[in-house]
Amino acid sequence: MDIERDVLDVDILIVGAGPAGLACAYHLIKKAEASGVEAPGILVIEKGSYPGAHSLSGAVMDPGGIAALIPDYLERGMPYEAKVGRDSLWFLTGKSHFRIPFTPPGMGNHGNYIISLNKFTGWLAEQTEALGVEIYPETAASDLIVENGRVVGVQTVDMGLDKNGEPKSNFEPGTIIKANVTILAEGTHGSLTGQADKKLNIFDSSISQSYLTGVKEVWEIPEGRLSEGEIIHTFGAPLPLNEYGGGFAYKMSGSMLSVGFAAGLNSPDPTGDPHRRFQEFKMHPSIKNILEGGTMLHYGAKTIPEGGCYAMPRLYDSGLLIIGDSGGFLNSLRLKGIHLAIQSGMMAAETILGAIEKKDYSAETLSVMQGKFEQSTAKRELHKVRNYHQGFEGGLVSGMIHFGFQFLTGGRGLFDRRETKPDHVYMMKLGEFFSNGKEPAPPMKFDNKLTFDKLTDVYKSGTKHEEDQPPHLVIEDYDICNNRCTEEYGNPCRYFCPAQVYEMVDNEDGSGKHLQLTPSNCIHCKTCEVADPYQNINWTVPEGGGGPNYENC
Ligand SMILES: Cc1cc2nc3c(=O)[nH]c(=O)nc-3n(C[C@H](O)[C@H](O)[C@H](O)COP(=O)(O)OP(=O)(O)OC[C@H]3O[C@@H](n4cnc5c(N)ncnc54)[C@H](O)[C@@H]3O)c2cc1C
Repeated sequence: MDIERDVLDVDILIVGAGPAGLACAYHLIKKAEASGVEAPGILVIEKGSYPGAHSLSGAVMDPGGIAALIPDYLERGMPYEAKVGRDSLWFLTGKSHFRIPFTPPGMGNHGNYIISLNKFTGWLAEQTEALGVEIYPETAASDLIVENGRVVGVQTVDMGLDKNGEPKSNFEPGTIIKANVTILAEGTHGSLTGQADKKLNIFDSSISQSYLTGVKEVWEIPEGRLSEGEIIHTFGAPLPLNEYGGGFAYKMSGSMLSVGFAAGLNSPDPTGDPHRRFQEFKMHPSIKNILEGGTMLHYGAKTIPEGGCYAMPRLYDSGLLIIGDSGGFLNSLRLKGIHLAIQSGMMAAETILGAIEKKDYSAETLSVMQGKFEQSTAKRELHKVRNYHQGFEGGLVSGMIHFGFQFLTGGRGLFDRRETKPDHVYMMKLGEFFSNGKEPAPPMKFDNKLTFDKLTDVYKSGTKHEEDQPPHLVIEDYDICNNRCTEEYGNPCRYFCPAQVYEMVDNEDGSGKHLQLTPSNCIHCKTCEVADPYQNINWTVPEGGGGPNYENC
């Protein structure tokens, strides 16, 4: 289809109104003001229906990032639920737990805040807009435009196409937005970041990124269960010792609790199901005691990039900068990325200011970003945990031993920079995994009080998509799904997706089953693209405004 598109020219374009993108916009205006440079025109685009709609986190925030960005953040009314109080780490056995009597190095939370990331993001968006930055919600970028090796902007998603890709009466072609610098702040496993890799090889010198899928709910719990600000992290059950992950419970203000479980996507189990792990976690007696009698209010899930600084891309190219989770700015030991996302946004802003002064947006000028990162506190923090996640490749026990050595050697441990494989490669075929009498677990029964099926949970995420649009989950070869994958892996997408997008349904002629998608359930967590063993699923960006509408998450 030949389409004439509007072209919008801006100075600076930021894709994603999360902590990273907003911090970049805010700091750039502030720095320009302080240096007497004319403030550039900045446009932030966000695929969610409002800034914060797609923001999901635990979220215990290290205030280091926001304090650097907005020193008077408390006076300006930064929303937070509680200051962290009692801080515990539990090892969960089958039926009980024991509290680790000391805080492992680097894991303390003294001085941190429990926040709701989507409230925090909404507030940061207000602060940023007040400086004159334009934020366009419901605006999703689908394509990174690269001309002659230089990033010149993005194209937004066409709106008003039907399921077959034909224009409806409300058709609006996507706009081309051109900018001197495009900043990718898309969060975890960014689609445009992937395109930047294909076109500009930004991950060429990196090890494979490793992901967890974090599944969480917000609950109202009876009084007296946990004190305000109390936080609990867990490891051990319900995961087997050879799988990576853990749970958390953060007591917010009033009677609200944020509870969740993050499971590694490098599980060998083809029936591995992060949503199910979370339900099992809630059924553990030590966690059930906290939740019983309460009410589940909200649900969400998202992947978490855990690979550490060796898995980070080159943070710049001509006309391009990459920040936040898109750039792998996440401390895997602390499960914290918000403060690093903010710091990376600030580094990008300072880099851009230098480029504006020189009127030069070449890769060489923007490479200042890499230098800033190398000299930053963010780099020092990430360097100390550079091998943490990889240490757990052999399971929990070897991970703890590696962690001990890493602590003694400033993060190096027994190896440095272990080449990991992409997560999906670790999945074993059905016949290999279920051998020697090992059987798949029977389907789970949900009681709708403590445990919930995926559809009930998706409803609690407020997810909505225009149903009559081209499916944004693109299966490259259905034959692989319906035949080869059924036989070899048993269609693991049915399990790993925490939103029941993928189902195997009977063929009309009774000859077997075929894959059926419900893309409107998708909560944009990106698990499918990471975990699919054939890499046959392509998560493309749907119409702006679709997806979850998180509250208090
Ligand atoms: C379950 C869970 C628990 C966590 N717990 C903690 C914690 O306790 N403490 C902590 O510090 N961190 C935690 N994190 C990590 C933290 O949430 C992230 O590191 C942080 O949100 C990264 O910020 P960001 O701005 O890079 O990305 P995001 O917050 O993900 O924001 C990216 C934004 O870009 C938008 N976007 C993406 N693609 C497009 C596109 N193509 N077009 C337009 N817009 C787009 C998205 O909709 C989103 O709003 C947790 C994460 C999860 C999932």
